[in-house]
Amino acid sequence: MAEPVSITYKSPHPVAKQSGAKGEGVLTASATACYTAPMPAVMRSYRLRAYPNGAQVRMLNQWFGAARWLWNYSLASRTKAYQRRKESLTSIDISRRLTKLKTLPKYAWLSAPPATCLTQTLRDQDATFRHFFRRVKAGENPAGYPRFRPRHEHTTSLRFQGVSLPKWVKGTVSLHKLGAVKLAEPLPNVQRPDTVTLKRESDGRYYITFSAKVEVALLPVTNRVIGVDLGLTHLATLSDGTKIENPRHYRARLRYLRQQQRCLSRRQKGSKRRERQRLKVARIHAKIRARRQYTAHQFTTRLVRNFDVIAVEDLAVKNMIRHPRLARSIADAGWGEITRQLEYKCAWYGRTLVKVDRWFPSSKTCSACGHKLERLALSVRGWTCPDCGAIHDRDINAGQNILLAGMSQIGGREDRDLRREGGALAGDGETAPDELRTGQIASELFSNGFNQINL
Ligand SMILES: [Zn+2]
Repeated sequence: MAEPVSITYKSPHPVAKQSGAKGEGVLTASATACYTAPMPAVMRSYRLRAYPNGAQVRMLNQWFGAARWLWNYSLASRTKAYQRRKESLTSIDISRRLTKLKTLPKYAWLSAPPATCLTQTLRDQDATFRHFFRRVKAGENPAGYPRFRPRHEHTTSLRFQGVSLPKWVKGTVSLHKLGAVKLAEPLPNVQRPDTVTLKRESDGRYYITFSAKVEVALLPVTNRVIGVDLGLTHLATLSDGTKIENPRHYRARLRYLRQQQRCLSRRQKGSKRRERQRLKVARIHAKIRARRQYTAHQFTTRLVRNFDVIAVEDLAVKNMIRHPRLARSIADAGWGEITRQLEYKCAWYGRTLVKVDRWFPSSKTCSACGHKLERLALSVRGWTCPDCGAIHDRDINAGQNILLAGMSQIGGREDRDLRREGGALAGDGETAPDELRTGQIASELFSNGFNQINL
């Protein structure tokens, strides 16, 4: 079996020495480790299901339409002003025009939604432009010029300002001009947010979302560290040998989804039955998404509760998702979501998240002696180190290496140049298409000609 991992843990917190075995480092703090920091206030976002009644839905449909019209009008005006006069209009300019338009009988419907909702729409467009300019500056191509919103939008939202205070913390939320909207659960006892977004999802369900500052209590110190290897065969393998099943929610529903999608494509365009079928398909997608999120939450919460330091590979999921054959599996595993949740949960609860260089050859390095294999096919699930004879499970070994690399990273030991150690991989990458040069798994796939993929 693998030799005990010996590493020194130099943390920003009380000096601790590591004396564990089998990958899961056990930290023995030489000083009494306790957090005296005050509870940090963090921004937390909430999303609650809302049930507008019939009259409210009719009103909302009108308002969504008005907001969409305004968005397109504003975008067209700004584009034209720039093309013709090299002039850049701001949302304030558009807002002035809007005030004039509202006085015309032809545009009387623009006065139906709360004025603040329309202002927010213009502000949202400002933000979209800001992002566009930032991307242009960064030389991104395509930079993504703001788009016109289509006539039949399935996902759409309005942002409300000034939610009435007395009706907060109840089973309803009171929105301007709309009245009390029923909620699936009581509002959390937080300070009233400045804006509340009412969103209609593509499956026809309504949600209100908002963010509020809340205090989060730091979790107690556990004196344990862990390395996490995210994968497809198993969703994750921990350096202590724990393997977490990959539930593959999407794949599980793929047959049914295909069936329903075929049914949708047979429905006549513009018919009521088509719309009903579209909602059905959208609901399947929503369900899959919700399940995937639930799995990720369960997993990340467990990690954050049990470990002080969590080391993960810094995967470029966005790029890997372009992979022709693995895209669906990678998206289905939800690595990006797991990493995102780990990031904020670690920040909230006072844990340390270490991201290990993605070129680090975590799978083909022996965690016991450091011997590096020339190549290791993805189908090989276990191997014996030719140098020290340690028998490795592919993923557990990778997890242990990630832990080692992560610990040396936070220990400030720069004696290991991971990029250089991963030289063979970087070399492979030079001949690989750009999107594949982004992760160890991707590189390995490339060097194996995508043939021996074991999913
Ligand atoms: Zn070895």
